[in-house]
Amino acid sequence: MAKRPPKRTERTVRRAQERAQSRLQADRERLFTLEPGGQPERPLDATSAAVIEAHATGVPCPLCGGTQEVTEHTALVHHGVRLRETKLRCRQCGTARSLWFRIVGVNLN
Ligand SMILES: [Zn+2]
Repeated sequence: MAKRPPKRTERTVRRAQERAQSRLQADRERLFTLEPGGQPERPLDATSAAVIEAHATGVPCPLCGGTQEVTEHTALVHHGVRLRETKLRCRQCGTARSLWFRIVGVNLN
């Protein structure tokens, strides 16, 4: 016969797992901001404004891997560089974040 562990232990284990989970999520979110496009100082290159939203919605949510939608698309100048900020919201877990782009000219040779 299997011995059932007491309830208190189950709860303690679950809380520890929840804490570990939220730490992991914070790490994933931080990692996202360190990757290209995660900060205005490190924008992704885009050849035109049109490709930005397609690219942005193709980036999965760093927390749950869900599909993100663009809630806002803003053109702005950051330290003399013309940038586009796309505000993303995850359709699955609802978290929001920004993805940054810089418009670069297409090289036609
Ligand atoms: Zn998500």
